[in-house]
Amino acid sequence: MTPVPFDDRDGTIWLDGSFVPWREARLHVLSHGLHYGGAVFEGVRVYGGRPFKSVEHAERLRDSAREMNYELPYAEAELDAVTREIVRREGIEDGYVRPVAWRGSEQLGVSGAGTFVHVAVAAWEWPHVFADGAQEHGIRLKTSRWRRPAPDTAPVRAKAASLYAIGTLARDEAEAAGYDDALLLDHRGRLAEATGANLFLVVDGELHTPVPDGFLDGITRRTVIALAGELGLTVRVRPIEPAELALADEVFLTGTAYEVQPVSAVDDRAYEVGKTTRRLAEAYGRLVREG
Ligand code: PMP
Repeated sequence: MTPVPFDDRDGTIWLDGSFVPWREARLHVLSHGLHYGGAVFEGVRVYGGRPFKSVEHAERLRDSAREMNYELPYAEAELDAVTREIVRREGIEDGYVRPVAWRGSEQLGVSGAGTFVHVAVAAWEWPHVFADGAQEHGIRLKTSRWRRPAPDTAPVRAKAASLYAIGTLARDEAEAAGYDDALLLDHRGRLAEATGANLFLVVDGELHTPVPDGFLDGITRRTVIALAGELGLTVRVRPIEPAELALADEVFLTGTAYEVQPVSAVDDRAYEVGKTTRRLAEAYGRLVREG
């Protein structure tokens, strides 16, 4: 069955201050954001009809826009209210919200000066990111030949569309090789993250996660670090070399869409879905549904 394309669905999308019919939420082919990769975006998960950490996501969208050298024309509180309203209008129970901002068509030079910043928010039902059973059995990662760029070569702190060009290349190669996702190293060759999630290793019952100095410091990552503290687990945030994967008893990823996602293999090395990962996945599952 061919999936319904994203531009041909029923419903409503919020675009530049108005709620418009889904199919009419369009941008022009000569949009600055399309040509020069200046868009920034967010992904917000909806549980039981409620967006989780919607304000934090709106704040990150603002910060990402600033990293790209522009200001959003809407305040975080407005974007939070729009997120809640679009979820309500679309009747989303378990789903995903995609706020996105980009520069318009006022001029098409490389400079961003003089462009109008557009913002849209769309939402749809999307209960799980990986196939059924992935939460139970884990996913398989392939170390990518693509790396996360150095902080002086790209806006690495932003959730910037331009950075996802690397993610798409890495993910396509990993999937073509029979894996579920790619594991990217940073510019120094240290462990960084997956294409849409942060990385944790469990070593002797302690959590180890890379310093987020060259990739997105995920909202889920921070939430899971706090939950681990509440569960009495030690968390070590430190530079981690790929060779340390050999010392890990468990590996998992965290992200808004991935949630706490167990990893069953990195390249040829297999991992159990262990009790620390399960404890954190359960604690996260409780938090998102019960607050
Ligand atoms: N890294 C990348 C590249 C991502 O796309 C995401 C998903 N937003 C994450 C990490 C995890 O971030 P968060 O927990 O805020 O969703």
